[in-house]
Amino acid sequence: MVNTGSAENHGGRRSAGVLPRSGATTLAALLVFSVAAAAVGDAYADHPYENPPDSPHRTNIITRLPTMLWHYVRDTLTLAKHDRSHVLPHAETVAGLHALEGANTVTWIGHMTTLLKLDGRTILTDPWWANYASPVPGMGPRRYVPAALGLDELPPIDIVVVSHSHYDHLDLKAIASLPHRERITAVVPLGVGRYFRGLGYGSVVELGWHESTIVDDIAITALPAIHWSQRVPFKKNDTLWAAFSLESPSGARIYFGGDSDRDAAHLQPAHDTPGYDLALLSIGGFHNAGVHCAPEECAALGHDVGARVLVPMHWGTIYLGEGPPLDLPARFARAAVADGTAAEDVWVMRIGETRELPAPHDKTRVLRPLTVLDR
Ligand SMILES: [Zn+2]
Ligand SMILES: [Zn+2]
Repeated sequence: MVNTGSAENHGGRRSAGVLPRSGATTLAALLVFSVAAAAVGDAYADHPYENPPDSPHRTNIITRLPTMLWHYVRDTLTLAKHDRSHVLPHAETVAGLHALEGANTVTWIGHMTTLLKLDGRTILTDPWWANYASPVPGMGPRRYVPAALGLDELPPIDIVVVSHSHYDHLDLKAIASLPHRERITAVVPLGVGRYFRGLGYGSVVELGWHESTIVDDIAITALPAIHWSQRVPFKKNDTLWAAFSLESPSGARIYFGGDSDRDAAHLQPAHDTPGYDLALLSIGGFHNAGVHCAPEECAALGHDVGARVLVPMHWGTIYLGEGPPLDLPARFARAAVADGTAAEDVWVMRIGETRELPAPHDKTRVLRPLTVLDR
């Protein structure tokens, strides 16, 4: 059943399209696609969701095109050389998961995909197992390290949370392949539920920003993100994008940032919120202003939302043209520490690594009232 909350109109900026894989033909295709997207972008009115009007603006595709093309060529030529020391051997991934069985944990599967265990419930975020983040098979941003676990190696999932419809976050094949879907609740932003219908999910809950639901005693709230959405040409911003707050009965409180630029004015939760034990933050793709944040700004975003432990993600899985991949989390960590976060509270995880969540840091806090939607 799909439950749709009240639809506020939030949306994003104009499309950059996808980066083809290699060769003169695909470069030409990229050029044509990008210019076409820029040219027609404003002509389409079917984008019901918008970012707040005074949030960071996306730079025009024409302005960004030379940099995108250069990054694309450079990335393609250097892909094989990228350091993979941030990837755990598979056997260690499996052992690490089993060693912390029963604890509240986070496992980084890669990109923005995490496996969260909260008070006995298992949550999967932004499940992405595909080789390309693209609508065109064999083209587009390419995964260069595999997902840490196969879909068939996952423990039984209770809840899937998806932040938005982009191809590196919403993998239709993956969500159609998860075992025991009849017992899984999918919690997604407004409009994204359409991709889960007909796949046999036990329940599908769509949330607008600041709307909440409780699934298996886990309180889940969709929060603003500064981003955009698109899966096919001429269907821009037809579904909402969001960050999420996840709160367990024992008080564990996680911020899952989705993709977002930093915007303290709009991302900071209401002042009466107690902050988060841990924030999972997207730090890659930051050459797109108004869409992602640079590592330093992402660290500040973690502070904005009041998170104690900061985890940089959305790096080291597909290459998005920001220089050596391992520089990103290093920059993030330096900025976070300079901004007052204890060094041990910046978790630069390895893909496949499992860590026990920090204990809830404020036992006396008052939980925000939730708008509980009928599932
Ligand atoms: Zn995105
Ligand atoms: Zn992304």
